[in-house]
Amino acid sequence: MSKNDKSAVIVGAGIAGSSLAFHLANKGYQITLLDENSYKEVEIFHNKAVEISPHYMLNNPSYNSLMTKASKFSYELVRGFKFTKKDAMMKGVVKLYDLKDCEKMLGKISTFDIEKSAFEYLEPCTIKEKYYVDKKAGIYFKHGGWVSPIKLCSSLTNDRNINLIPKSKVTKINQKTSSWEIYCENSNRYFAKNLILCNSTSLNKINLFKDIDLKKNRGQINWVDRKKNLKHKEIISEKGYLIPDVNGLDIFGSTYERDNENKELSNNDYEKNLKTYFKLCGDKFEQNHGLQKGWVGWRAVTLDRNPYVGKVFADLPDKKNRPYSLDDLNYHPNLFINVGYGSRGYTLAPFVSKCLASMVDSSQSFEEESILNFLNPYRSWLKQIGLRKKMLTKYK
Ligand SMILES: Cc1cc2nc3c(=O)[nH]c(=O)nc-3n(C[C@H](O)[C@H](O)[C@H](O)COP(=O)(O)OP(=O)(O)OC[C@H]3O[C@@H](n4cnc5c(N)ncnc54)[C@H](O)[C@@H]3O)c2cc1C
Repeated sequence: MSKNDKSAVIVGAGIAGSSLAFHLANKGYQITLLDENSYKEVEIFHNKAVEISPHYMLNNPSYNSLMTKASKFSYELVRGFKFTKKDAMMKGVVKLYDLKDCEKMLGKISTFDIEKSAFEYLEPCTIKEKYYVDKKAGIYFKHGGWVSPIKLCSSLTNDRNINLIPKSKVTKINQKTSSWEIYCENSNRYFAKNLILCNSTSLNKINLFKDIDLKKNRGQINWVDRKKNLKHKEIISEKGYLIPDVNGLDIFGSTYERDNENKELSNNDYEKNLKTYFKLCGDKFEQNHGLQKGWVGWRAVTLDRNPYVGKVFADLPDKKNRPYSLDDLNYHPNLFINVGYGSRGYTLAPFVSKCLASMVDSSQSFEEESILNFLNPYRSWLKQIGLRKKMLTKYK
């Protein structure tokens, strides 16, 4: 394969894989996108709508800066596709807080590098009047809304440089002299210069990735017919969220549970989700709400809840042989991962995958490189051998 070979195999056609395929195709790459499921069976595609929503922490400037950029990017990306209101509604998100917490958060957000028009304080009386919720203040964020996951992912991969091959479960990978060999369960084999794993909770099942610490968290959302009195189109969220009027349905949730492989809808979770729903509509809880409808899925969660994105170590440095310098780190050539998006794949992955596409292409900007240093998959290891700070401050 030549030095200018622009071939890539991407494993996993969820939002991480589809976004990456989109950005690499824009850079002239020929992409083979493999997914173990038939396209319509991809788990997340049975979810009717996912929220795009900025999420901030009081004391994590790097994360907050990433969130601001990523949510704006996803918002503009979805709007750019000009989906009909059947498939997307980008009307913003209202986050509810107790008054004191709201003031704290607002003070914090005002110090971020965020456009003034991208957020607005909502007083308790406004929240009561417009959203019927009592005793809460709120912040409206413009860069939010909902989109149909299948619509977004299929639009991202609708490019003649992207060859999506469903029913292709990758079981093994092997490094050749100047390419990667990818083995599928159905006996097909693929070769490409670049290989990027975007297969979420299943990453650890493939050799070479046993050291990546990912947990699997089950979640359930539910939906009911839209309440007649609700008029707003903004998503409302506090601990859970309510996505209003997705083709006549209110979608709400979601639950969060480790080490639970139950694929069936759980009545217990339905009750928890209904409590969230009634709270976010400002109504009294009604237990009997008919036969439940909803969706169950799994999130790939990292130790610090930020995704693991970047190159893969060829061998982990021995903790005893310190000191190390950044030049001692030994990565596999042209092998990358893009996983661990937890509950925020649709907000983060389109933007982060753009940074990764630049890394694959060796055309990173300063900003993209700093973001990927922050998301380095081995960050906790790097911290233990004393290199994390050096990596983060390399360009300061
Ligand atoms: C109940 C619930 C509600 C959620 N709501 C939201 C929301 O509103 N907004 C939001 O942003 N996020 C939400 N999430 C989280 C969101 O689903 C994830 O962040 C997102 O799906 C991660 O995208 P991904 O591409 O990394 O993984 P996935 O969507 O899981 O995609 C991974 C793909 O890899 C494929 N794959 C796996 N192994 C292999 C293999 N060996 N070979 C080939 N293919 C393989 C799978 O078939 C799958 O298609 C929710 C999650 C749950 C459970």
